[in-house]
Amino acid sequence: MHAFKTIMDVFKLLEKSNCRKCNEKTCLAFAAAVFTQKRPLSDCPRVPPETAQHYASRTQNQVRNDLEIERQIAQLRADLAKIDMAAAARRTAGTFDGAKLTVRIMGKKFGVDAAGKIYTDIHVNPWMTIPILNYILNCQGAPVTNQWVPLRELASGKDWYRLFGQRCEKPMKKIADTYPDLFVDIVDLFNGQPVDNHYQSDVALVLHPLPLVPLLICYWAPEEGMVSNLNLFFDTSAEVNLGIDGIYALGTGITRMFEKLALRHAVSPA
Ligand code: SF4
Repeated sequence: MHAFKTIMDVFKLLEKSNCRKCNEKTCLAFAAAVFTQKRPLSDCPRVPPETAQHYASRTQNQVRNDLEIERQIAQLRADLAKIDMAAAARRTAGTFDGAKLTVRIMGKKFGVDAAGKIYTDIHVNPWMTIPILNYILNCQGAPVTNQWVPLRELASGKDWYRLFGQRCEKPMKKIADTYPDLFVDIVDLFNGQPVDNHYQSDVALVLHPLPLVPLLICYWAPEEGMVSNLNLFFDTSAEVNLGIDGIYALGTGITRMFEKLALRHAVSPA
């Protein structure tokens, strides 16, 4: 991982003179080399040193974050070796075949064995792996109530909802604002189920990122004189089955998956 989301994020920092002092043919070629981590930004002599240093620090921070995520996943996998997998399957609305426990993530199978080895056909990023493993370890098996509440109305949600708004709802709204059709396609890809006219939103789709932790996405498109809005709602049982930090991690994991897909597939908006 690195500090830039796209090649254009690098390119906009460059002079765009194609002077070749970096030994690349164009600034765009240099931007691609920085994005793929073949060259540091500081190799362009036209980039101010403080800018190059700023992005080098961001990259180092990202590497530290990635190492911390790897450490957390290793710990969770070690913890899995200590639990009763058959009982865990009952708690999590999963299945156990004697060797591995399988739960449905967005409708797709995700299996894990007692050694913490993961079996899945879907690409699950590390941010998603953490809440999934946490769910298997800690889910209490509370039935879904089908009553939706925003994060701040969950028992421990008051301490988290501002950060959740910044890290999940705001970036997800940006995707929906910029690529409205693609946004619906992405939710569809993750097996989103429509619900009727919820809160009179333009889009109301339920995802099942974990079997007992559904998530309702409501999006209100911009109208004349009114800005758009996007809110995520959770079942009132969510905190019992995942815990508030797990819910936050789940929200950020899904948002990052959406962002990656949007970056990969998006076309310029009309
Ligand atoms: S040295 Fe900098 S400005 Fe010159 S071509 Fe390379 S990236 Fe562009």
